Amino acid sequence: MPRSATTVTIAATAAMLAAVVAWHPAEQLDPVRRAVGLGPDRPLPAPSVVRQGGTFAWAMTQPGSDEPVGWDPCEQVRYRINPAGEPPGGSELVRRALDRASAATGLEFTDEGETDDRPFPGGVKLFGRPDPVVIGWADAAEYPDLAGQVAGVGGAVAERGSSGRLRFVSGGIVLDVEAFTASAVAQQPRVMEGIVLHEVAHVVGLGHVSEPMELMYASNIGQVELGPGDREGLARLGSLPCR
Ligand SMILES: [Zn+2]
Repeated sequence: MPRSATTVTIAATAAMLAAVVAWHPAEQLDPVRRAVGLGPDRPLPAPSVVRQGGTFAWAMTQPGSDEPVGWDPCEQVRYRINPAGEPPGGSELVRRALDRASAATGLEFTDEGETDDRPFPGGVKLFGRPDPVVIGWADAAEYPDLAGQVAGVGGAVAERGSSGRLRFVSGGIVLDVEAFTASAVAQQPRVMEGIVLHEVAHVVGLGHVSEPMELMYASNIGQVELGPGDREGLARLGSLPCR
């Protein structure tokens, strides 16, 4: 993995959870809303998609197509933070990264409060309201994917909607306590925030690219800002049609 002389050198990786095919009970409300003339509304406006020659990749595509899987922009992306193992300022890093992802996608992230739940629970509920995205800190003993230089893992869970298209309904981010130390957060706050934003972008639907100037490069070699491809990809994901 690339090493940088001056910054924390940690890789960030994605673990996309298996797509779960299930019906969301909220779908049943759709025909009612349409019958009374209420189309789905976005809580936030769609972002402008600006083609700037960058590189982006989708974390997951619709079956038999190269169209991306993303969240329904007419629904809020609900999340909870598990503060166990959090370094000082950790939740603030997460919230700043979510604000930046919201600005880039036009998706609304809603804090549902702290939780004791761990990210990526063993099973995924097939029926009922999907679990919120859980964001927490852990070590490689609990999450073997965090072994070595991996600083974080992020991914989402997809569900098949009434249109037949997959969309993300839940997900998780786990941040490595060995990377997110108190001193790293104090001394490299922008880099650490960039790593969180990289993981949030996985949850939103971006995959890795081989262009080191993009934040979605698999290793963080000091990037703190979204690159042109990251921005275009996030804007496209945030511009998908509502169900
Ligand atoms: Zn990654």
